[in-house]
Amino acid sequence: MQERIYLSPPHMSGNEMKYIQEAFDSNWIAPLGTNVDKFEEEICDYVGMEHGLALSSGTAGIHLALKYFGVGPGDYVFCSDLTFAGSCNPILYQYANPVFIDSEPETWNMSPTALEKAFEWAKNENKMPKAVIIVDLYGQSADYDALLPICEHYGVPVIEDAAEALGASYKGKKCGSFGHIGIFSFNGNKIITTSGGGMIVSNDEEAIKKMRFWATQSREPAKHYEHKEVGYNYRMSNICAGIGRGQLENLNMRIESKKKIRDFYINSLKDFPIEFIPIPDNSDSNYWLTVMLLRSNATVKPFDIIGKLEEGNIESRPVWKPMSLQPLFNESGFFSHSEKEFVGERLFKLGVCLPSGSTLNEVQLNLITKLISEELGS
Ligand SMILES: *Cc1c(COP(=O)(O)O)cnc(C)c1O
Repeated sequence: MQERIYLSPPHMSGNEMKYIQEAFDSNWIAPLGTNVDKFEEEICDYVGMEHGLALSSGTAGIHLALKYFGVGPGDYVFCSDLTFAGSCNPILYQYANPVFIDSEPETWNMSPTALEKAFEWAKNENKMPKAVIIVDLYGQSADYDALLPICEHYGVPVIEDAAEALGASYKGKKCGSFGHIGIFSFNGNKIITTSGGGMIVSNDEEAIKKMRFWATQSREPAKHYEHKEVGYNYRMSNICAGIGRGQLENLNMRIESKKKIRDFYINSLKDFPIEFIPIPDNSDSNYWLTVMLLRSNATVKPFDIIGKLEEGNIESRPVWKPMSLQPLFNESGFFSHSEKEFVGERLFKLGVCLPSGSTLNEVQLNLITKLISEELGS
């Protein structure tokens, strides 16, 4: 059997070792150093934000952002429902209450209608959230022209969870730059990786300064290690930042190969009654994962496709299980796109994330689409 094909494996660009070597040569084997500073600058330049803070994970970034907005015990935070648990676990770290907002069919991201309903509820119940976490799912931007005015109207700050969306844009503006604070992840499966890591970006220098302080164990400026506040060990290692710098160099090439992969799937499977994650005219995806969607009346189910691919030693996955359907969050609030329609649940029940690694070759793609075609045609 051929070598296993993974969903989205790491893809080295070639220069990673050069930056790692520089870290060794200068003996900065620590959670600070030139690579960390440069990586922060380079991501900010790319995204068009003024300040960056490199961290040990994207989840750490969301945690610090929530803390910055004063989220504490008993508070409320709105969050996209169709996402990975890393988006909302930090709400629980702060002993606050998540309220989940359904997806819309057009972008698969946060539904403006559901968000408006949630705010009306919060106003009536006196449960205004301290922040709204908006996710850019699978590298696809949320509809910010619809979502941001609603949050502004109620005076609630936005955290953009662009963990999956580095390189994507909406109306020409890069994902990660829409909230007061934006977050990226460089976990092993993301479009670029530092093996594990994350970054916060913002135009608010004071906010970045405060979060950098918390991320460094809240060390007061004193020789004897003075502490007035709880702190965290959340900084990124200079070695990992070196990997990130090498990875970032060919981000655009990665996006291009991922786009070709999506086009290949759409083309090869065009005779079957399936859809793909939509990309609205006003937005450019980074094509992190291509997701196909079966019809609700189809006899073939996602797990049939996933099982068939597994027989060929190929990894594929269902769409994220909505947070409101997770046992961990069964007490949490939830607002659906419409009274009749829970969009995220439909996407979960009918979607399959297809292998989308930027190194996939045509032989592998042909094998994948052959197996899917066999299953769909059966
Ligand atoms: C990966 C991911 C995170 C968490 O990032 P880590 O770096 O793994 O902590 C958060 N939100 C979304 C949407 C993600 O995909």
